[in-house]
Amino acid sequence: MIPDIETQSITDIENFQNALLQKQIAYLLENSPFYQRRFKAENIQIDTIKTVEDLQKISVTTKADLQMYNQDFFCVDKTEIRDYATTSGTLGDPVTFGLTDNDLERLAYNEMLSFQGAGVQKGDLVQLMTTMDRRFMAGLAYFLGLRKLGAGIVRVGAGVPPLQWDSILRYQPKFLIAVPSFLLKMIEYAEENNIDYKSSSVKGVICIGEALRTTDLQPTLLAQRIQEKWNINLFSTYASTEMSAAFTECNQFAGGHHHPELIISEIVNENNEPVANGELGELVVTTLGVEAMPLLRFKTGDMVRKHTEKCKCGRSTYRLGPVEGRKQQMIKYKGTTLYPPAMHDAVAHFKEIKLHLIEISSNEIGTDEILIRIFSEDTTDEFIGKLKDYFRARLRVTPQIIFEDELTLQKIIYDPLSRKPITFIDKR
Ligand SMILES: [Zn+2]
Repeated sequence: MIPDIETQSITDIENFQNALLQKQIAYLLENSPFYQRRFKAENIQIDTIKTVEDLQKISVTTKADLQMYNQDFFCVDKTEIRDYATTSGTLGDPVTFGLTDNDLERLAYNEMLSFQGAGVQKGDLVQLMTTMDRRFMAGLAYFLGLRKLGAGIVRVGAGVPPLQWDSILRYQPKFLIAVPSFLLKMIEYAEENNIDYKSSSVKGVICIGEALRTTDLQPTLLAQRIQEKWNINLFSTYASTEMSAAFTECNQFAGGHHHPELIISEIVNENNEPVANGELGELVVTTLGVEAMPLLRFKTGDMVRKHTEKCKCGRSTYRLGPVEGRKQQMIKYKGTTLYPPAMHDAVAHFKEIKLHLIEISSNEIGTDEILIRIFSEDTTDEFIGKLKDYFRARLRVTPQIIFEDELTLQKIIYDPLSRKPITFIDKR
């Protein structure tokens, strides 16, 4: 089931990717108004870029580029577009992505590999607990991938624990696709309603949106809390509309595998130069085989590490660790730098906290202030003290913490226009 290329030597994979990259450069030169202009400005010829290392010779593509010149990234006529998806831009307007028929096929192939890696087989049933519409690409990609794999799908969508449990008990899915913190809600609902979740049909969950692994690939507190209660496998998957590709964990749970036929990745420092394997840097991607809106050296803003030691599953491809943060969400706090995911995970340590929202703002002396708004079962001063001590010990920061009522937080966190819960607000 594993494509041949994924078990070849590193050199073979590099050569394979270099050949695909050359094709990609030729395609952009021929079809992309944005890259035609850029190649001309930077004196890039068809033979300037022959290898992944040569990508250093061309400047990166930013989210601002995508937003300002959105139309110029399209390489095909509008009549060839079969599906539109959008991502939120940094400057206000969304960025539009189009997919051709072949792009949808590529997306399906990508998700098929991703699900196979997590152990989903032909004939298995998977319950989709994320949104399929609202111009998001992910839900559609899961559907197409599972269909291509020959698996069945129950499209329940986001939220609504009673309907989720009704579907699980009725159709007996083996896998779920879900936001991991929602699994805690599912467990809570099951406990309150005497549903025997521990012996349900569910064996594994493909998890999106929140980190399941720490920097050194150990289970996060969130993953531990779920698995303490419910003995199921939790697989991380990481993808974005811009990448049109996913990095999903195999049965070794040690970061998401790279698929060489779909994407080239670089992990870079502030100056867009590669960092050493295992070091934290920003992920920069070059899509392979995309027709409508291919991207070259796109800066994702996601801070990740590349793990290159051979995986025990037999694939020789590298893996990406968890997204440790978004570059623009880096918080500078009294000489420490940190990212929201580490704080979310620290909050996950406390079962009393039912909802939380982290807000970052700048104070008058130009340093960042951290405010955590929580809805908690325990609202005593002692509990606040315990929280602060834990944060200080674990992350070397002492946030301000205030109690809120459930409804106030719910309204902000579960915004119907957002695919993922909003648990971080940046006011800087
Ligand atoms: Zn593996």
